[in-house]
Amino acid sequence: MYDLAIMNGNVYTPEGWKKTNIYVKEGRIAKLDIEKYEADDYVDATDLEVLPGIIDPHVHFELAVGNHRSVDDFHTGSISAAYGGVTSFIDFLDPVSHHSDLEKAYEKRLALAQKSVVDYMFHATLANPQGDLEAFVKNMKQLGIDTLKVFTTYSETERRTSDEAILTLLSLTKIYDFMLLVHVENDDLIHHDATFTHADLSKSRPSISETIEALKLAEFTRRTGGSMYMVHLSSGRTLEALKNYYPKLINTQFFIESCPQYFTFNHDRLQDDLGHLFTMAPPLRSESERLLLHRLVNEVYTIGTDHCSFMATQKAVPTLAELPLGVAGVEHALPVMRAHFGDGVLDKMTRHVAEVHRLRRKGQLHEGYDADIIIVDPSFEEPVSDHHGATDHTIYKDVPQKGKVISTMVRGRFVMRRRQFLGTHGSLIKGRRS
Ligand SMILES: [Zn+2]
Repeated sequence: MYDLAIMNGNVYTPEGWKKTNIYVKEGRIAKLDIEKYEADDYVDATDLEVLPGIIDPHVHFELAVGNHRSVDDFHTGSISAAYGGVTSFIDFLDPVSHHSDLEKAYEKRLALAQKSVVDYMFHATLANPQGDLEAFVKNMKQLGIDTLKVFTTYSETERRTSDEAILTLLSLTKIYDFMLLVHVENDDLIHHDATFTHADLSKSRPSISETIEALKLAEFTRRTGGSMYMVHLSSGRTLEALKNYYPKLINTQFFIESCPQYFTFNHDRLQDDLGHLFTMAPPLRSESERLLLHRLVNEVYTIGTDHCSFMATQKAVPTLAELPLGVAGVEHALPVMRAHFGDGVLDKMTRHVAEVHRLRRKGQLHEGYDADIIIVDPSFEEPVSDHHGATDHTIYKDVPQKGKVISTMVRGRFVMRRRQFLGTHGSLIKGRRS
């Protein structure tokens, strides 16, 4: 007797699409089989798709940004995620400079995340490093964390990590078996000007600052033999340069994440009436760079949203310096990216994320894996019209989508069923080695 059976769906398995049933027992996928077996609960998925839950490797819930706090907390943000078919996400610990502060940062974030309705995990964040980097890495590994984020920019808010420290950390990735995540923008090429408004954002953070820094970091990675993951690549030109100069490194040692917003919008959006809503770092790029990114999507390993939402009023400020950067994205990533790329994007939002960030038993519809399963109506093709997060708007309004998430389950329990939120509790995901 199984707990749940999802019947007659078109199932996305590691071997491709299959017409089959999925049987769930005690939170895991127990069997994929066309035979009918007994179960406590049957779900009819005829004419529907059954996919592994989306894993968003890059979200910021309840994040302090200058004088603001992002408005989606772990509860509202994760509900929005569930409506978008996201069953796991990875958030970030608050940045700390010293190894002695890391555990406190972990406990603080872990306590906040108890409100999440889907599963979660954390990247550690190092800012303006002080003290022994090796001790930092050891403490991080003791907490069960295998990913460490640093910034090459934001010296003005004391978050930058120097080239020298990055080289040291890259060498340590081999010894301690972890991955270095990097926010890639050259600090010297970012212009701060008190008179800039939101319309100047792309000019203030030009794409060359990303391209040149990415090439430098790829070279660091090659020389050290370390392991690096570039978060939120924004420019097609950066990707083209990496592909040309470091083809063997890409997605073997130097992994690339990009976000739905960079495939969907160009920097002209900053100039219209609602331009202040389209503000994030790195910023939107030119149409030619967007198209190039589109063309080179195969070089992108994972899709993360960098979800960091604010109210429209928080963003309607006169100067760029006061404007909290970040947009909501967790709910619309799957249908928007499928409208762009069809099924080709699915692995970048599931299996690849689980592999590179080491989420054990997640990212595939496979016997023995967690029953993180979503049911999607593939016939739905209307543009975005709604959202469920705490914020009052979405930049994806009226953007084309493909498919609608009908139901979302985490470890065999419905978080959302037939577009009704049911509520449940997420859990901390154990890394591959714990
Ligand atoms: Zn981010």
